[in-house]
Amino acid sequence: MEKVQQSINIYPCPTAKPKPGQQSLGFGVHFTDRMFLMDYSAEQGWHDPRIVPYEPLQLDPASMVFHYGQSVFEGLKAYRTDDNKVFLFRPDKNAERMNRSCDRLNIPRIDESLFVEAVQTIVRLEANWIPVGNGASLYIRPFIIATEAALGVRASNRYLFAIILSPAGAYFGEGLKPVRIFVDDHYVRAVRGGTGHAKTPGNYAATLKAQTEAKERQHCSQVLWLDGIERTYIEEVGSMNVFFKINGEVLTPELNGSILEGITRNSVIRLLKQWGIPVTERKIAIDEIVRAAENGGLEESFGTGTAAVISPIGGLFWNGNDIPVNQGNVGSCSQKLYDTLTGIQYGRLQDEWGWTVEC
Ligand SMILES: *Cc1c(COP(=O)(O)O)cnc(C)c1O
Repeated sequence: MEKVQQSINIYPCPTAKPKPGQQSLGFGVHFTDRMFLMDYSAEQGWHDPRIVPYEPLQLDPASMVFHYGQSVFEGLKAYRTDDNKVFLFRPDKNAERMNRSCDRLNIPRIDESLFVEAVQTIVRLEANWIPVGNGASLYIRPFIIATEAALGVRASNRYLFAIILSPAGAYFGEGLKPVRIFVDDHYVRAVRGGTGHAKTPGNYAATLKAQTEAKERQHCSQVLWLDGIERTYIEEVGSMNVFFKINGEVLTPELNGSILEGITRNSVIRLLKQWGIPVTERKIAIDEIVRAAENGGLEESFGTGTAAVISPIGGLFWNGNDIPVNQGNVGSCSQKLYDTLTGIQYGRLQDEWGWTVEC
C-alpha cells in the first residue's frame, strides 16, 4: 500500500480550563484542553488524524478493548528549558516501541514519523500547560484501544489512537529519595512468550494486587519481580527497569522477552559506558544480590523509567529479611545519572547524543 502522509486537522478549542497551581500538580490527575485522535478501520487503515477538545470518548459497550484487553500505550514527557524552549526526549524510541507493542497485541502499526509529529503538534498547541519549575513536566500518554463492537475472541477491525497530556509536578520534590522494595516470589508479572516486553494494560493489572500487599504488609513502595518460571532471576522493579552496582560493575537484567525495554534503561547504559563504568546485561539471580549485600560488594541499586528518571533503592525485603542497600542512602552513580539525564532533558547540559527534540 502506498504510504500517504496525512496532515493533522486541528479543530477549534473554544474553552480553556483553569490550570492547576504549581503545588497541586501531582501526577496524572489534571488533563489539558485538547487531545489527539486517529481512527483505524480495516477498509481505510489509519486515517483522520485530528486534534480536538479534550472530552469523554463515546464507546460502544461491546468495544473489544473492554472484553479482551487489546490495547497498548506509551509514556514520555515534554520539558520546558530555562530559555523557554520545549524539549522531548527520544520520542522516536517511543514510536518504535509502540509499534513493537502493537505487533505483539496484533494491532496494526502506526507511522512512526506521524507519531512524533502528532506529539510535537499537540504539545506545541498546549505549551502553556507545561509547568515551570525543577522536575516539572508535561506527561504525554499515547495509547491505542480496540473499538470494534463485537464479542468474539479475535483481533479487532477497528482501533482508536489517542494522545492525552497531563501536567506533572516533580517526582522527587526535595531531591532523590531511596525506596524500600518487596522482592516477590509469589506473584509474577510476565513470562517469556507472553506480553512482558509490550506496554499493554494487562501487564499492569496483573501487578496491582502484589503492589497493594507489599505496601500493606511490609510498607514497601514497589515490588521487585522475579522471572515467572524459576522465580530466581531479577526482571524489573515496579514499572521500572532495575540496576545494581557490585564491586564497581553495573549489572542489569538482559532483555529476555518478559522485560520492558526502557528508554531510560538504554540511555543509562550508554552514559555509564561513556563514563568508563563497566555495564553488563545478563541474568541476575536474587541470591547473587543477597550475597553481594552480605559481603559488602553491593554498592548501590536503582530503578529507571520516564516518570522518576532514576529511583534509588534503599533496601530490599526478601524472604522475611531486610537487606539494606548503601545504608539507605542515594548512591553517587544514581545521583550522577539523575543529574545528567535531567540536565539533558531540561537543556542545562550539552546534548551530545542528539536525544532531545524540540517541539
Ligand atoms: C514504561 C516501563 C519501563 C520504563 O520505560 P522508560 O521508557 O524508561 O520509561 C520499565 N518497565 C515497565 C514495565 C514499563 O512499563
